[in-house]
Amino acid sequence: MEKMTNGFTTELRRMEFENHGVCVACGYKFKKGDTANLGYDNSDAPLYVCDKCTRLLKEPTIKRYYSPRPYDVPTPQCKLWRYMDFTKYVSLLSSRGLYFTRTDCFEDTFEGAKGLRKNKEKWDAHYFDFFCSAIKNPPEGNKCELSEKEVEQLANKLLSDLESGGEAHKKRVFVSCWHESEHESEAMWRLYSSFLANAVAVRTTYKSLYSALGRDPSISIGRVRYIDLKKEYAGVNDAFWRKRKSFEHEREVRALIMDFECKDMGKVVPCNLDVLIEEVFVSPKAPDWLIGLVNDVNEKYGIKVKVSTSELSEVPFFKELLGAKIFRDRPLFLIEEFLLLEQ
Ligand SMILES: [Zn+2]
Repeated sequence: MEKMTNGFTTELRRMEFENHGVCVACGYKFKKGDTANLGYDNSDAPLYVCDKCTRLLKEPTIKRYYSPRPYDVPTPQCKLWRYMDFTKYVSLLSSRGLYFTRTDCFEDTFEGAKGLRKNKEKWDAHYFDFFCSAIKNPPEGNKCELSEKEVEQLANKLLSDLESGGEAHKKRVFVSCWHESEHESEAMWRLYSSFLANAVAVRTTYKSLYSALGRDPSISIGRVRYIDLKKEYAGVNDAFWRKRKSFEHEREVRALIMDFECKDMGKVVPCNLDVLIEEVFVSPKAPDWLIGLVNDVNEKYGIKVKVSTSELSEVPFFKELLGAKIFRDRPLFLIEEFLLLEQ
């Protein structure tokens, strides 16, 4: 194997992102703590391989400890919905980008939280032990020469850094929230549009969202996991992927990006809207002319996409079965036959 180079290119990061946890050569599934090797093969194609397959790397670039993602990735065709006011839809089109909200600006004060304050001692004890063990057991070739007291002092310092860092971190994490569902949701129309008569919903898929954002490995997209904070807490890397059970109905899939420079309450991330938007629906309470208006706006911004009325605005029918004279005293199979004939 040749000497390692340091070019951790976007191409390699994307390779790791898209194959996270699986050796692309032999299909081996990494376990926590395994080494994943990145580099280029003989034909200069990027590779992400396990230790047994490193012979394939002509130009090894980087070795990384594998650790599982703190979220699940939806299937490529999984349907995602975003409910919004018409004004936000126009803003999406005119900015040609997706708006990511800074996580300290969400209404949910538990956004990014590790747990309930009353359980903080347990969390602290867990990470205190974790830090002590990490300090006492440095990587191979190093030796810990600190006394027990010094180890504890250092672990306490790391713990307090972690706490102050956690609060500040909320200002660096930006999120775009989506609702995962095969179908439209009445509850989501109400939740995410302040004026229902003017609301629209954009439908996409995981694959389209990922592609529309430029297959950017610095944007994580995954399912939020809902946990019972009375019994559990979020780990250091999990906090922005965990919400309380009371939010379970949101079935949220979020796109998450970190930005250490941006001081605004949100940021617009460039997005290919032709790829992103698969269909637009207007709210079940929208007046008839809203479809025309959405079509006009789409045309103005050069977006070619189907605009549909909400499935919830379909008109129901009610058949009067039991009251109808003809069915009186007839066996049920006759009634079924009659209905089949009618169709
Ligand atoms: Zn392998």
